[in-house]
Amino acid sequence: MGYFRDSKRIVVKVGTSTLTHNTGHLNLRRIEKLVKVLSDMKNWGMQVVLVSSGAVSAGVAKIGFGHIPSNPEEKQAMAAIGQSELMKIYDRFFSDYGHTVAQILMTKEVISNPERRSAAENTFRRLLEMNCIPVVNENDSVSTDELTKFGGNDILSAYVAELVNADVLINLSDVDGLYDSDPRTNPDAKLIERVECLDDAVYAIAGDAGTSRGTGGMIAKLNAARMVTEQGIPMFILNGHDPEILYTLLDGGHIGTYFTASKDAKK
Ligand code: GLU
Repeated sequence: MGYFRDSKRIVVKVGTSTLTHNTGHLNLRRIEKLVKVLSDMKNWGMQVVLVSSGAVSAGVAKIGFGHIPSNPEEKQAMAAIGQSELMKIYDRFFSDYGHTVAQILMTKEVISNPERRSAAENTFRRLLEMNCIPVVNENDSVSTDELTKFGGNDILSAYVAELVNADVLINLSDVDGLYDSDPRTNPDAKLIERVECLDDAVYAIAGDAGTSRGTGGMIAKLNAARMVTEQGIPMFILNGHDPEILYTLLDGGHIGTYFTASKDAKK
């Protein structure tokens, strides 16, 4: 993956199960490692956009609610509480490494409405020119239906990668990548290192198990991969358990599953 080192603009998506402990509270050690490696990527010369989940879980943990609510209003309230908690931590850690974060909360209308889309594109562009790290999440507190909701941050990250015209999308997950069968039940399951054609056969082996705190399963990640690769943007699925594995990519090594950009894409 030597070319990864030449990427100028990367979007990194990180999920709730990577960012939080089983208690739902933020996993500060892991977040700090993630911030350190992303800061290093910036120092290397890349522009970095971070799509971060974790708001609902952090909100639930902060007020001791006990469980992720199913009631939409309560969930929206948790997101509002947790989002500021999340940004406070990112701001503190990125500041420690000399970088500036900027929060962008998105709804699906931002993508579907041309004027709002263009406003968002301009904001991202200016922030990146100003050397900031945009930290993006779905605006859960005001998103209620399929007009406004993305249906999870895997999909949101694909839209963001397209919006900022990223060179690569990295999906940091709680699995090592896509396997040829379920690694939780089959000890001989093999990691698929490279996917060139995201067809029904690939979907058929994916299964769709989410985690208790996160929302995205493998199907959502494949949908995200399909969206971006069709636009000429490759995508990785990597295990975010140790964010420092991103250095392997920076050092030119191969990890996780790599979805190649479609050859027919205009990019
Ligand atoms: N936006 C949600 C949150 O911050 C997470 C959605 C997802 O992980 O797909 O909690």
